[in-house]
Amino acid sequence: MDKFHEECGVAAIYGHPEASKLAYLALYALQHRGQESAGISTSDGELIHTKKSMGHVADIFTEPVLQELPGSLAIGHTRYSTAGDTVERNAQPFSVHCNKGRIAVAHNGNITNAAELRKDLESRGSIFQASSDTEVILHLVAHSREKTLAGALREALLQLEGAFSLVFLAQDRIIVARDPQGFRPLAMGQLEFSAGTPAYVFASETCAFDLINAVYMGDVQPGEMVIVGPEGISRDRYAPHRPLSQCVFEHVYFSRPDSIVFGRAVQESRENMGRYLAIESPADADIVVPVPDSGNAAAVGYSSESGLPYRQALIRNHYVGRTFIEPSQAIRDFGVKLKLNPVRSLLEGKSVILVDDSIVRGTTSRKIVRMVRNAGAREVHMRISCPPTISPCFYGVDTPNKSELIAANSTVEEIRRFIEADSLAYLSMNALQRCVADDRGEYCYACYTGNYPTDFVNIEQLVRAGKKAGG
Ligand code: AMP
Repeated sequence: MDKFHEECGVAAIYGHPEASKLAYLALYALQHRGQESAGISTSDGELIHTKKSMGHVADIFTEPVLQELPGSLAIGHTRYSTAGDTVERNAQPFSVHCNKGRIAVAHNGNITNAAELRKDLESRGSIFQASSDTEVILHLVAHSREKTLAGALREALLQLEGAFSLVFLAQDRIIVARDPQGFRPLAMGQLEFSAGTPAYVFASETCAFDLINAVYMGDVQPGEMVIVGPEGISRDRYAPHRPLSQCVFEHVYFSRPDSIVFGRAVQESRENMGRYLAIESPADADIVVPVPDSGNAAAVGYSSESGLPYRQALIRNHYVGRTFIEPSQAIRDFGVKLKLNPVRSLLEGKSVILVDDSIVRGTTSRKIVRMVRNAGAREVHMRISCPPTISPCFYGVDTPNKSELIAANSTVEEIRRFIEADSLAYLSMNALQRCVADDRGEYCYACYTGNYPTDFVNIEQLVRAGKKAGG
């Protein structure tokens, strides 16, 4: 089940008369990547206009608001706080007027040496307005002695460690970049709005392109900077090659199954996970039931491999908002019941395989197991489509501190008992690697292994920050 969403989504549009509308639609398709705040900046060739606010994309960007975002260039952001506090001043894009002109930036990922860079910048006179790590980039750009924005950006990016997929807006150009390890995705597309004049679009996931009829042209490469301006498009490596560390959790949970992420269909990865799970951990059961929506695709894979019927025996209410009014007489497990309700006729007397993507704290999973049992299931066998989550992410995924991660502190048998399942099994690391066809070790699995693919500049700080690690 999608307990809450985290991370961020970014988008950029170049060369379309309705850039703000396209950015809005792209963000609408990326809403699952962050629901706390959203923002769009546009350039009319001279001025940069920004509208950002707490809340959902469709609520913030009404017709009158979009009309205040003129221009044919736009960048956008949807945010769930993983670095910085939950306040409006941290909403992105950040926009400044500095010695390199007017610029705005939006960021997905987490810069692991942001605290150090910030301390250094503050000692040199920089004044920060927000607590998010993204602002550091703008200050590095402003401090650079390079004359051009692209040159200053290159210099800034080379000082960053960690995860960043970035979209920048200048008066007359869009510049996008990915960190050299490629932690977070960034796809590139093209859109034809009048004969022969292509508009370029960039987005965290390709599902954003589908909505605006853009054609996916591949990914911005790790360590690559793409500039689109009046002189056309240029692609340029700004950093030396590093081993890749693409986030496997994008395929496990984050991204939409209709997206292509790191050049792979997410749906295919997830079905593979279910298939391998069925091979590695079969169960003597009657039906396979996904925890919607996060377990849907893996349950399809499990069902087809095991030959057991797939049944949607948990129904999700898709319209659950941020706040809801609970009756004064508290209802047990109210939060989960609001989101999910069992189909008793499918579950009664059945031995059930319940498929979900992960167990983080274990509390939601326990409620769901209880719910299925209370609806009449005879046995509940929990299957998780990735290995146990044992370590927090420092690259932009909102995982809690190690102390709150149940698998960091308990054996699988202890977790099984905690969630009150008859059996519990996770996908193996080996299988996960195969599910995303990672023959060359190009993914990051740190949340499952504790092996982090970057040197932390200030590990204590990061640990103290715990989950407050990007955007
Ligand atoms: P729990 O049993 O409380 O650990 O919650 C597990 C549920 O949280 C699963 O249904 C997951 O889909 C969902 N989930 C997994 N990873 C995350 C994450 N990083 N952030 C939020 N929810 C997540």
